[in-house]
Order: sequence, then C-alpha cells, then structure tokens
Amino acid sequence: MRVLIISDIHANLTAFEAVLADVNTRKLEYDFIWCLGDVVGYGPDPNECVSLLRTLPHLCLAGNHDWAVLGKLDLETFNDNAISAITWTREVLRTENLRYLQVRPERSEQGDYLLVHASPRLPIWEYVLDPSVAEDNFREMSAPVCLIGHTHVPLVFVKDGRNQAVRMSHPEHNLPLALKKGNKYMLNCGSVGQPRDGDPRAAYAMLDTGNATWTPYRVEYDVASVQSRMRAAALPEKLIARLEYGR
Ligand code: ZN
Repeated sequence: MRVLIISDIHANLTAFEAVLADVNTRKLEYDFIWCLGDVVGYGPDPNECVSLLRTLPHLCLAGNHDWAVLGKLDLETFNDNAISAITWTREVLRTENLRYLQVRPERSEQGDYLLVHASPRLPIWEYVLDPSVAEDNFREMSAPVCLIGHTHVPLVFVKDGRNQAVRMSHPEHNLPLALKKGNKYMLNCGSVGQPRDGDPRAAYAMLDTGNATWTPYRVEYDVASVQSRMRAAALPEKLIARLEYGR
C-alpha cells in the first residue's frame, strides 16, 4: 500500500492544496492518507481544511491544537499567540467539523506502523527532537515503525537492531529511505501548514508499505495569500510572520 503522510496542516488550506497538487505533479500515487493531527490551530482556514480532508480517503489522529480547540486541554500550557488562534478557531469552526475532531483517536496501529501525533508514550504532547527522548520512546514501542508529527521538523530516528544505538538524522528530500527489518524507526514527516526547520515550504512524505520505503518531499506555496487571510481574521502578527521563515 502507498500512503500519503501529512501532519500539522494547521488550518493552512493553501499549503494543504499545494501538497495534493504536488503529489499529482510528481505522479505519486497513493491508496490512502494518514494525517497525524493538528488539522486546525494557527491558520485562517480551519473549516476548509477539515472539509477537504473529509473528502479524501484517510485516517486522522488527534493533535494537541485539535484538543485545545475542543476544550480537552488546559489553555495554560499554550503561549499567548497560540491561545488567540485557538480561541478564534473555536468561534468559527462549524459544528460538523467540531464533531469530526471530537472523535479522532490518540493512536492507531496499522500493521507494522504505529501512528501518533507526538510520541509513542505521550501521543498528544511530547516533542521528540533528540536521540535521548527517542531512545526512551523506542523502549515503550512494540511496533517496528512509529510515524509522528507535532514538532514541525522532518526527522528520522533509527534504533539499530544490532547494537541498539539510536541515531537522529535530517532526511534527504526526494530520496527514498529503506526501512530495514530488525531496526526500529520513528519518522517525522514535518508540517504541511507551519514548517519550523527554517524551510518555509510545505512538508509531507510518501510511505510504501510494500517495499518499506519512506520518502520526504517539500513544496512551495503562496505564503502571502495565507498571510493576508490571517490579517483579515486578526490573527497574531507573530504567527503571520513565521510562515515566511519556516520558524
Ligand atoms: Zn502542530
């Protein structure tokens, strides 16, 4: 099966549409979409993003911003800009889209693949950005491969099956990574709608479960058009500016 992996769309419809168009342009076929949460929060198009996702064959997990919008998380754990965006999202999100977000699972196992928003041990919250946090999570992970989002940084963590060493690397775009039997992996596809690795392009990945390969991609999108919709919605200036820098 070929799966399009996306995460952290964050209500950025222009970036989401650019990803789907890029998949077509590159003639990357997929059978299904696995979306790793945070469909809303930060961006100006929460209804449009949830509605578009719902038209596609997909499985979508819960993210921390989705939960915050639903009132399932204490807003004290978010910064002021995030809180403004969450509050605005709550006001505009239509009932059917709220209901959709309400029933998203925290984790899902699909064969060899564990899907979570953040980390295997704390599926909504934990930031996996270094090998030591990854190592602790590998210990609690029975599936050979875990797919994560949340940090908005495309990363590959590998636990070597021979010597148990954990390594972290930044994936090479457009280059398939072969997932070797015996190793364990934690794979972060990056963020569609708010990249934070210094590259403002939307990020996604293709997973081929048949030959066990993971290929990350990036695509440019019209950042200015998203920024003008954010200004019209009076979303925080810092959130508007960061899209340009990918930070
Ligand atoms: Zn996020």
